[in-house]
Amino acid sequence: MELWFTEKQTEDFGITMKIKETYVSEKTDFQDLAMVKTEEFGNMLLLDGMVMTTEKDEFVYHEMVAHPVLYTHPNPEQVLVVGGGDGGVIREVLKHPQVKKAVLVDIDGKVIEYSKKYLPSIAGGLEDPRVEVLVNDGFMHIHDHKNTYDVIMVDSTEPVGPAANLFTRGFYQGIYEALKEDGIFVAQTDNPWFKADLIQSVNKDVKEVFPIVRVYTANIPTYPSGLWTFTMGSKKYDPLEVDESAIPEIDTKYYTPRLHKAAFVLPKFVEDLIK
Ligand code: SAM
Repeated sequence: MELWFTEKQTEDFGITMKIKETYVSEKTDFQDLAMVKTEEFGNMLLLDGMVMTTEKDEFVYHEMVAHPVLYTHPNPEQVLVVGGGDGGVIREVLKHPQVKKAVLVDIDGKVIEYSKKYLPSIAGGLEDPRVEVLVNDGFMHIHDHKNTYDVIMVDSTEPVGPAANLFTRGFYQGIYEALKEDGIFVAQTDNPWFKADLIQSVNKDVKEVFPIVRVYTANIPTYPSGLWTFTMGSKKYDPLEVDESAIPEIDTKYYTPRLHKAAFVLPKFVEDLIK
């Protein structure tokens, strides 16, 4: 008998994957958490029935959250990741020698616990001496840490449940205040096929707070529509003014110095969303 997992990405459309084994399926204090083994994409973390990360395609998302912003800031020493309990963004952050301290704040300790156990290739960096792991609401953390960070990365779930307030203007204002005077942030901002309204509202809110706002994309096959967006807000440095010849070739499988600026070239229907 075959077992398949289907994520309904809209009421009328979804993706489905054949499941080899279910390791965990439990309700945490914040969300439904499942960890399964898939035939096609290896181990996969699900939260509230949504694909969070898979062993096979995780590198795209985690590299594209971390490297564009960390190669735009000239000296990213103090870094914050909001969410990101699977550890993938932190693993990429640690490839930057200038980073002195990387703080991860995830509201759900169970995500961290099970990611360490079932996603070792993703979560391995969480034990690094430069990393501080906190179990807390990211919204609270940024309000308690003003003028602290050079770079903030928001690797949260969709704007439902515990992440509902991580896509609000108040949150972006809090991010602005938690950043140092030349700080820069990036957030995952979903897909333009099914979440165009979200991309538009986030872009409008971030533009009201930050002087420089840029959107870029990447291809993530297990995420809704496969076309993913990221929104960057910066107080001083523009990712499009980076000298890509000064960006080193590091151990990546998706991000490259050549892709740094190319990722910001948007399809017309996405450009039109954020005009
Ligand atoms: N890459 C995924 C995506 O784009 O949907 C996100 C992966 S990561 C596992 C998402 C994390 O955000 C989860 O571990 C969840 O617990 C965390 N999260 C949700 N709301 C949060 C909040 N208010 N503060 C901190 N972490 C939060």
